[in-house]
Amino acid sequence: ARAQAMEVDESPDVTYGDIGGIDEQIREVREAVEEPLINPEKFREAGIEPPSGVLLYGPPGTGKTMLAKAVANETDATFIKMAGSELVRKFIGEGSRLVRDLFELATEREPAIIFIDEIDAIAAKRTESKTSGDAEVQRTMMQLLSEMDGFEARGEVRIIAATNRFDMLDRAILRPGRFDRLIEVPEPDFDGREQILRIHTRGMNLADDVDFTELAGETEGHSGAEMASIATEAGMFAIREDRTDVRMSDFEAAIEKLEEDSAGDPITSP
Ligand code: ATP
Repeated sequence: ARAQAMEVDESPDVTYGDIGGIDEQIREVREAVEEPLINPEKFREAGIEPPSGVLLYGPPGTGKTMLAKAVANETDATFIKMAGSELVRKFIGEGSRLVRDLFELATEREPAIIFIDEIDAIAAKRTESKTSGDAEVQRTMMQLLSEMDGFEARGEVRIIAATNRFDMLDRAILRPGRFDRLIEVPEPDFDGREQILRIHTRGMNLADDVDFTELAGETEGHSGAEMASIATEAGMFAIREDRTDVRMSDFEAAIEKLEEDSAGDPITSP
């Protein structure tokens, strides 16, 4: 079960340059995770305890996973991901053992970045979740907390978690020595959307009429993941018309398609 529950990437290829619109968040993650991994002496000499765990929170598809992977890439660390939701749904009865295995594996492969996605699935307030009353889920969370409390001795292992539902979290996981550095990763603003679109069209043969500023203006409210899919979809429109250049009209069509698709989505429509 260990292999299925965890995704291990010895050398993720995401770089900071691949992430658009969240420069401030990149700076904070580098300071909290990268610095202590690369320069542990600096922190020791200064008598400063680096943050134990970093929690990234914000809406889906804004680059949280990318950030964690980029740090692992930059520090030549092994990236080990575990999804909180899967622990709860797929690995019933195995949660606490898998958390133990997770930290063990990270120690074996250090330097390592542990990334726990959707941590709210195992660390929700009792009152706000159907599952958190579950004794098994509670045990999984207790195991995580105890692993983190014994963290200092672990050397070159850093832990990053992510959630879309910050308000649901059990405050116990935010205490000092646990996830004690919080970084909000918001939906991209105008400049962010433009940057993300530029990143995802870097390899494309773009026609001269493509206007990124205008496209950023037409995509308000869309996440980084949606901007990426607009780029891909625009490329598909060009291919379908048997063209080798991607034009402004392709991007317009892609935006329209995205908006139609999400209008039909029962979760987002009113
Ligand atoms: P979730 O909360 O749904 O797990 P997330 O915040 O972890 O989402 P990512 O998995 O990092 O989001 O992003 C999904 C995809 O969307 C990325 O692989 C990338 O293609 C695109 N993307 C999202 N945010 C950005 C961004 N800031 N810059 C560039 N691409 C982005």
